[in-house]
Amino acid sequence: MGMRSRREFLGAASVVAAAQQSRAQQAAPPAEQIRIGYAVVGLGRLAQNQILPAFAKCSRSRVTALVSGDPVKAARLAAQYGVRTSNIYTYQNYDSMASNPEVDAIYIVLPNGMHAEYTIRGAKAGKHILTEKPMANTPGDCRAMIDACRSAGRKLMVAYRCRYEPYNMAAIRMVREGEIGRLKVFASDHGFNIGDPTQWRLNLKLAGGGSLMDIGIYSLQAARYTSGEEPAEISATMFSTPGDPRFKEVEETILFQLKFPSGLVAHISSSYGYAGNNRYRAIGDKGWLELEPATSYTGLRLRVRQGNVTREIDLPQADHFAAEMDHFSEAIRNNTAIRTPGEDGLQDVKLMMAIYEAARTGRTVRVG
Ligand code: NAD
Repeated sequence: MGMRSRREFLGAASVVAAAQQSRAQQAAPPAEQIRIGYAVVGLGRLAQNQILPAFAKCSRSRVTALVSGDPVKAARLAAQYGVRTSNIYTYQNYDSMASNPEVDAIYIVLPNGMHAEYTIRGAKAGKHILTEKPMANTPGDCRAMIDACRSAGRKLMVAYRCRYEPYNMAAIRMVREGEIGRLKVFASDHGFNIGDPTQWRLNLKLAGGGSLMDIGIYSLQAARYTSGEEPAEISATMFSTPGDPRFKEVEETILFQLKFPSGLVAHISSSYGYAGNNRYRAIGDKGWLELEPATSYTGLRLRVRQGNVTREIDLPQADHFAAEMDHFSEAIRNNTAIRTPGEDGLQDVKLMMAIYEAARTGRTVRVG
């Protein structure tokens, strides 16, 4: 090859190489590179039965680390979900995740009373935080979580999965677009018959409260997200079956009413004593809509009454946890807004404290 032809050849080759490089830059990177890596903290029922299986349905999220106090369980789940054994952490060495670039975000699935500590430590380790509901036991803890994430420059989201699934999203849209007229009454019940008296959900320090903190919160959230309004006045009553060993520290049943500035009234029951059920009905001045079940993991049903016609609306059933995690991953990746940020979790905890105050004192509590 002469000098000239060699130069021409090299020139052509470098043009080809440059073109290939620019195509490679334009093409989507491999899926594993665009997925946000999650550490799941607390490998109990929700983590094992819902969250870990949901990663298979995610397009933007993958599980890269596990945090547990039980090494045998952690090793078994790591093998099952393809997590490296070097990415298994304990509650003690949790903070050393700071140096692990495979962990972008932490999903906290611990008892309620532990969410604040693990959020604050996680944010200090430089990770984005997705925490289970309720956000924490007290408004003060919620504020400390928000501050910790803000000062670390990390995102914070509360895992309100129903805000990311099609049925509740349809109900929100229909109410907000006036399809049942002006919303007048919101009626909702959430509860189940709780078992083992020794479980953390019945321990005030770990749970923060009883059925309200665990399950009544779904009704409270739904009253707020369907209406798009915040309550102004709260009245409440609570009751536990006398002598029932399960309710020494936390309430069994709580009933509460919320008055909203627009003229909407919500009446809600939450219980650890009745058979499992979850539903809400939003009644407007031109119709109503009802979800039952409203907040189960699957099988949701939506009926709508407009004029003289009642119809059932069929929508695709989505995996709530996959939708929620992918929303958070997208917010992290693209720096977009979070639909259920820490402030939303704080508002529910503030309202739940006001509900307890109203129930304890028998007085109407003004909020807002
Ligand atoms: P769980 O009891 O099944 O699991 C809790 C995990 O935390 C266990 O692995 C346990 O070993 C671990 N843990 C660590 N320290 C503990 C301590 N001191 N005491 C007790 N457990 C300790 O509970 P869960 O049902 O998986 O609930 C976990 C969180 O998820 C709670 O905040 C709960 O409100 C929330 N949750 C949310 C949903 C939802 O639909 N979004 C459903 C269920 C639970």
